[in-house]
Amino acid sequence: MSELRQLPSVDRLLSGPVALELIARHGRPLVLEAVRHTLEAARQAILDGGHVPADGTLLAEVRTYLEAATAPTLRPAINATGVIIHTNLGRAPLSKAARAAIEAVARGYSTLEYDVEAGARGSRSVHAEGVLCRLTGAEAALVVNNNAGAILLILTALAAGREVVISRGQLVEIGGGFRVPDVMRQSGARLVEVGTTNRTHLRDYEAALGPDTALVLRAHHSNFKIIGFTAEPALAELAELARRHNLPLVDDLGSGALLDTAAFGLDHEPMVQESLVAGASLVAFSGDKLLGGPQAGIIVGRRDLVEVLERHPLARALRADKLCLAALQATLLHYLRDEAVREVPVWQMIAAPLAAIETRAHRWAERLAAKTGLRAEVIPGESAVGGGSLPGATLPTRLVALTVASPDELAARLRTADPPVIARIEADRLVLDPRTVLAEDEEPLWRAVEAAVKAAQTQG
Ligand SMILES: *Cc1c(COP(=O)(O)O)cnc(C)c1O
Repeated sequence: MSELRQLPSVDRLLSGPVALELIARHGRPLVLEAVRHTLEAARQAILDGGHVPADGTLLAEVRTYLEAATAPTLRPAINATGVIIHTNLGRAPLSKAARAAIEAVARGYSTLEYDVEAGARGSRSVHAEGVLCRLTGAEAALVVNNNAGAILLILTALAAGREVVISRGQLVEIGGGFRVPDVMRQSGARLVEVGTTNRTHLRDYEAALGPDTALVLRAHHSNFKIIGFTAEPALAELAELARRHNLPLVDDLGSGALLDTAAFGLDHEPMVQESLVAGASLVAFSGDKLLGGPQAGIIVGRRDLVEVLERHPLARALRADKLCLAALQATLLHYLRDEAVREVPVWQMIAAPLAAIETRAHRWAERLAAKTGLRAEVIPGESAVGGGSLPGATLPTRLVALTVASPDELAARLRTADPPVIARIEADRLVLDPRTVLAEDEEPLWRAVEAAVKAAQTQG
């Protein structure tokens, strides 16, 4: 077909000033890939009966291809959902000090595994262990990649080929494919379920213990709640039973609070210190849930057991990296200095007074109504803690509710804004919860809403 021959060559497209600018920005290999892709698409279009596009049109397509290929997919987003620990949105925002610690360690070399006094190889576990022990009263601590890794390491190192006793009511699946029975199978430990879904008694545990038992596991129910006719032995009772049988009791706390959530009008989320006092041999929890730090799996407890974990090859495979350890140490120091509620974003959000949220909500509503002409009202609502902690528990909040023709469409436009804004829809209105929006994100959020409303209006 003669029209195909009118398509420019790769070299011709690459020789003009536009291509040179693109090469300077994106590098020659990627521009070459984009040009080839664009020419191939044009060739197909011509075979399907289309016309030969002008060089300028082709170059515009090359630019679009390059922008799509290089746009970061992991980028900041604004969480206006009111779910404080939102796993899909990256869980805990980090404190200023934690961010600074990451930056300081990232820009050059660090003392990650270097003992400056001895001038020799050191241990990366020292960076968090001391503070963790001081905060929780544990003898020893170990930090791995995440809490799922912590549980896998504990079960593999302490129970592979042997039995782990757990209540049926605790065989939970949390988000992202973490299922207690699957992790158990992966570790090589044999699951021994005791009790029933809603009721498990101490005697059920006792009857299941035998010569093959390696440990007793308790898992936080995480994201669900059994109500009604229920029973589970207290952790201290389980600990006493385990001690009598000379077995470790491992507590998977999930969120693992170091502060008491009940002080902020919430239910009481089990605390790490309480589990240790009750007699758990090892307690495992996440770094990026209620702790408010980076993704990590934290194990605290008996020194002899932590040493077994440290020596296991999986510990090497699951070890935390320097950026995580830098941020974790900085986060833990906030607790040590008794300033966590002031400095750790997750706790700032939990502790935010309703009056302050209401003031912000009114400021948003006025501004958005003035700029968009929409009806913007401040209404009562609920924020959630999220992250598998405190299932069903919420904090009273104030929402900004926007009345629009299509809340779904507005929500979709906000999701594709830059930065993306994630909102909720309630009773056919788009609602924004100021509780989870950082102060410095207010202005970008307003601008995103204004632009999205304007785009919806001009479209029709
Ligand atoms: C969240 C959670 C985990 C997994 O923790 P990650 O840090 O996400 O790997 C394990 N167990 C419980 C009970 C949890 O709530």
